[in-house]
Amino acid sequence: MSDRRCIFCGRLIELETDALFRLPPDHPRVKDAIYADFQKARGLFDIRSELPGVCEKRSPECAKIEWENGKPVLITKTGRSTDTLICPTCHSELFRDTDSASVHSAVFFGAKDSGKTSLILALAERCITGQFSSDERYRYIFNEKLYNAGDMTAEAEKASAGEKPRDLRRPAAVYRVLRANEGGKAFCDVLHDVSFIDTVDEESVLTALPFAASAEHFVYCIPADTLRDALGADNESADIKIRKDMFMMMSAFRFSEKPPELDIAVTKSDLADSGGPTEEQVYTAFPSIRELSMFFSGTKVYPVSAVKRDSGGDPVGQLYAGLFG
Ligand SMILES: [Zn+2]
Repeated sequence: MSDRRCIFCGRLIELETDALFRLPPDHPRVKDAIYADFQKARGLFDIRSELPGVCEKRSPECAKIEWENGKPVLITKTGRSTDTLICPTCHSELFRDTDSASVHSAVFFGAKDSGKTSLILALAERCITGQFSSDERYRYIFNEKLYNAGDMTAEAEKASAGEKPRDLRRPAAVYRVLRANEGGKAFCDVLHDVSFIDTVDEESVLTALPFAASAEHFVYCIPADTLRDALGADNESADIKIRKDMFMMMSAFRFSEKPPELDIAVTKSDLADSGGPTEEQVYTAFPSIRELSMFFSGTKVYPVSAVKRDSGGDPVGQLYAGLFG
C-alpha cells in the first residue's frame, strides 16, 4: 500500500501520484511559507521556516523517482537522492510506517483546565515507560521526532503531581508493533491536544483542526468536580457551556465520511466519589450530551485521572485500549 496519512493535518496522500519530497539538507534553504503558516496556526512561532526546497516528479530538479521496498525515493538531476516525504497540504514530514490503514487518531477536547494535556501525557508516559500490561500483544514505541521521551515523562510527572503541564502544540504519536511479528505491521496512534486553541468559532474550526476530520475518536474531558457540581445544581448554565463545545466538535467533523466516537473522559476522577461517574450521571448533568450524542458513531464514558493511584484498576490503560484497541 502506498497511501500515507499526514498525522498533522489528516490528509491522505497517494504516493504514486502525489509524493512530495524535501530536498537533501545541503540544498539551498528557502522560506517555506506553507509550512510556516501551518505551524503558526498551531501557535508555533519559533519554528525554522528556512528549509531545503520541496520537489516532486514534475519539478525541474527531479530526474526520476525510484521505489525501494515500497517507498519512493527521488533522484535529483545532480544525482542526489531524498526519501524525506512531506505532506502536500501542510509541508510537514510524513513519517515512515504510517500508511493509511495504520494511523488512528484521537482528538482531546474540553474546557480550559479540564485535564486534556495531563491525560495525553499520562497516556504517552505509559507507552514510554510502563507499557500497557492490560494488552500484551503490542510493544509501544514513542515517536521521538516530535517530542523527547524524557521531556514527556518529566511533564507527565508534573501532571501526575497535580501541576499544570505545558501545552502540546504538536501531536503525540506512538507506534504500536505486534510483539509476535516483529517485522510486521506497525500502527501509529496519534493523540491531538487542542489546548492551544483559545477561542474557536465554527469558521476557524476547519482551519485550526484539519486533523479532526479523519479522527476516529473525539475525547471530551469533563473534570469530576464539574460533573459533581452540575449534578447538584438546579440550573442549566453548565450544560450551556458543554452544548457550545459539542457544536464546535460537530463542526470539526462536518465533512467526514464517518463521524467519530464520542468518548467522555471524566478527568481528575481521584476527586470523584466512589462508584461514579457513570454514563447516566453524565447524561443527567448535561442533557446536551444525551441529545447530541446521536450525531457521533457511539458514546462511552471513562473515569480517568492523571494522578497515579495504587488501587482501582488501570483506568488510563482502559482508555488507551478503548481508543486504539
Ligand atoms: Zn499534512
